[in-house]
Amino acid sequence: MQPILLVDVNTQNRSLETEILSAIKQAMYSTLILGPEMQQFERAWAYFLGSTYAFGVASGTDALFLSLKAAGIQEGDEVITVPNTFVATALAIQHCGAKPVFVDIDPSTYLIDIEQIEAAITPKTKAILPVHLYGQAVDMPKVLAIARKHRLAVIEDACQAHGAKFRGQSVGTFGLAGAFSFYPTKNLGCLGDGGMIVTNDHSLAEKIRLLRNYGESKKYHHIVSGFNSRLDTIQAAVLHTKLPYLLQWNQRRNEIAAIYQDKLTDLPKVILPKNDPAAESVFHLYVIRVPNRDGILSYLYENGVYAGIHYPTPLHRMDCFKGLGYRPGDFPHTEKCAESILSLPMYPELNLQQINHVVEIVKEGYHLYANRLRQ
Ligand SMILES: *Cc1c(COP(=O)(O)O)cnc(C)c1O
Repeated sequence: MQPILLVDVNTQNRSLETEILSAIKQAMYSTLILGPEMQQFERAWAYFLGSTYAFGVASGTDALFLSLKAAGIQEGDEVITVPNTFVATALAIQHCGAKPVFVDIDPSTYLIDIEQIEAAITPKTKAILPVHLYGQAVDMPKVLAIARKHRLAVIEDACQAHGAKFRGQSVGTFGLAGAFSFYPTKNLGCLGDGGMIVTNDHSLAEKIRLLRNYGESKKYHHIVSGFNSRLDTIQAAVLHTKLPYLLQWNQRRNEIAAIYQDKLTDLPKVILPKNDPAAESVFHLYVIRVPNRDGILSYLYENGVYAGIHYPTPLHRMDCFKGLGYRPGDFPHTEKCAESILSLPMYPELNLQQINHVVEIVKEGYHLYANRLRQ
């Protein structure tokens, strides 16, 4: 059996090679920056999610950063988010000069513990930045109710949740803005970096339009101090080619999750992802919790199953956020999860034989290591 990767983007891109290459070939003679292919993909993405506006930007990190900027987040402000996320969530807040304020996660969903948000609000709080981690949807109506009460903006980090829904509505479209990443391994990925901001707010949309393009209102008229952050026309053409497959890929991810669920359910000390009937996950990652995780993970590696950890170091314990003054132990659920979470291989092209192999090796690792002391 060939090693099984955590995610294998080559198989998917190879299966669409002819279509992708012809889209690239056409786009390479188009307007390469802010070209029609980018605008067409923006419209398609807005339609896919059910939002009014969509703006292609250079990355998911920039999508978060420019959304926060456009929402007026600046020096001295505080933005509430979670310590269990990819580093970029909080970097985007810091790049605005603002302070990330962490709220612990709900240990059953790994998403922001909504009950703890209000206690973190201070007079400096300007926004809440929930993260739809692993492809799961945060209960946005609850977050929006708190935000309305305290007059806070909500910017959604939907970089792992392309097409995830809460009560039928796509994540990214609940708050003032939603940020997406098209990094190659995301549920919809390009051949490099790319990102998108969606919003239903006209005035925010106009600010983002300026901010991503040097603050330019018309040729050589620069009315705000903007940035250079646009989705390349070529990447947009690739993404537009792949978009029609996204629903079936997400569906396949759900099928794979159901198979894992079914086959791993008899391991008493393993915690499987929770099913929230109001939320439709797109399983960007399939994350379980196991005892003696490091022992099991090394067993998986030795046997060619490349599982992962998302994420091993909570943000409040990273050097780049030292200045925030948090201490070990401040977010016990996040820290406890970080020691036991394990991401199993997850991508739509995984076949049944591979899934069965992953399950078999996980079970072997479990029986060998679960009852041992930590390695
Ligand atoms: C990928 C990701 C980002 C950043 O996206 P890039 O395109 O890599 O900049 C931000 N937040 C989360 C949760 C992500 O998974």
